[in-house]
Amino acid sequence: MNVLVIGSGGREHSIIQKVYQSPQVNQIFAAPGNGGMEALAERVAIHETDREGLIAFAREHEVDLTIVGPENPLMAGVVDEFQKAGLTVFGPDKQAAEIEGSKHFAKALMEKYDIPTAGYRVFTDPDEAKAYMDAKGVPIVIKADGLAAGKGVVVAETDEEAKQAVDKMLIEEQYGEASKEIVIEEFLQGEEFSLMAFVNGEQVFAMLPSQDHKRAFDGDKGPNTGGMGAYAPVPFLSDGDIDTAINRILKPAAKALADEGRPFTGILYAGLIQTAEGPKVIEFNARFGDPEIQVVLPLLKNDLVQVMVDVLKGKDPQLQWKQGYCGGVVVASEGYPEAYEKGKPLPDLPIEESEVTIVHAGTKRQGDRFVSDGGRVLLAYSYATELEEAMQHVYQKLQAFDDSAHFFYRTDIAKRALRPSFF
Ligand code: ATP
Repeated sequence: MNVLVIGSGGREHSIIQKVYQSPQVNQIFAAPGNGGMEALAERVAIHETDREGLIAFAREHEVDLTIVGPENPLMAGVVDEFQKAGLTVFGPDKQAAEIEGSKHFAKALMEKYDIPTAGYRVFTDPDEAKAYMDAKGVPIVIKADGLAAGKGVVVAETDEEAKQAVDKMLIEEQYGEASKEIVIEEFLQGEEFSLMAFVNGEQVFAMLPSQDHKRAFDGDKGPNTGGMGAYAPVPFLSDGDIDTAINRILKPAAKALADEGRPFTGILYAGLIQTAEGPKVIEFNARFGDPEIQVVLPLLKNDLVQVMVDVLKGKDPQLQWKQGYCGGVVVASEGYPEAYEKGKPLPDLPIEESEVTIVHAGTKRQGDRFVSDGGRVLLAYSYATELEEAMQHVYQKLQAFDDSAHFFYRTDIAKRALRPSFF
């Protein structure tokens, strides 16, 4: 089989590393891909939302399966066009992907189908929004309706911060179209985790739970980022917690989308928070989480290509998981998630070796070495029987970055799941 992976980040490198292991696969293409993928996939210079270009390429190169990695091509209707062209594609169409693309839509769906989430209201008028916040008090959460690359959410601790967020979104239109409408929601207290599933209509095949670390710095300090590290599975969640999340959240959400005439095919990601009342939804995404998938896919025993083919045919893929844990830490460019410089040389790191695997996100090849080319540069992960051992391997490897002022990483990934003495 020939497989085309759309996207250029760590998520897509991770997908390619797994697809590469499939005995059914002859060739892998990445559009547009990144420097670190070149050993495994042929890069194709087509933009991830160039529907016509991607379809023409898939036809010409006899691509049997296209996997869409990021949210932007989903929202741009890439899957819809591939389906119209009669090409096999894994991902939701535009209407189903709206569960990620519009927070308003997602909240209304959860309300209608009684899926546990924070109480909320939607506003376009700043004065009404502020009056509502005054009545509710802080902490409170303000979210741009549309896609804002993980940056359109403010968890406000003071009235001042809350009002500033409303002004930035509704008056200054900081995120353009994405923040013309805002969702204001109740602040939820608890431990966050992610649960992803392969979905076809009402069929839901859940993966292992994982935990991301969204804040830039140790101790969950600093601004929100795309994610600074993750591990899986999550030892402090019981089987009962996971079953509740599957049966009260993922399955009802898939059924709700089907009932609304927007059946979902692809990866449904639930960003959850374990509250005193059980798990509640923080957000849904319509694709693999990044960096979560980098630590979940290495635990999957199955051939990922076969899983996707089975799910597309409505067959149970019979997911099987390795025992043990996988932990991964992101190395980012100094300054991220604000302004940062690119083109900084990376220390020598073999892409794969026995204990630590490198997943490239924002890198570029320059001569015979890699240089940085994005905010999140790479993720190093390790798999071991014990989470502690996996994290030890990763942190040993990352010492290679300690002399460089151009990069940083969090030193407390997976802390909540480890003995305090580990750090
Ligand atoms: P991304 O798509 O990058 O994951 P996003 O922009 O869709 O992010 P959310 O996941 O909705 O944003 O929120 C970002 C973070 O803000 C969450 O991981 C969580 O830490 C915090 N947050 C969001 N909503 C709430 C809430 N209701 N209560 C408490 N914290 C929240």
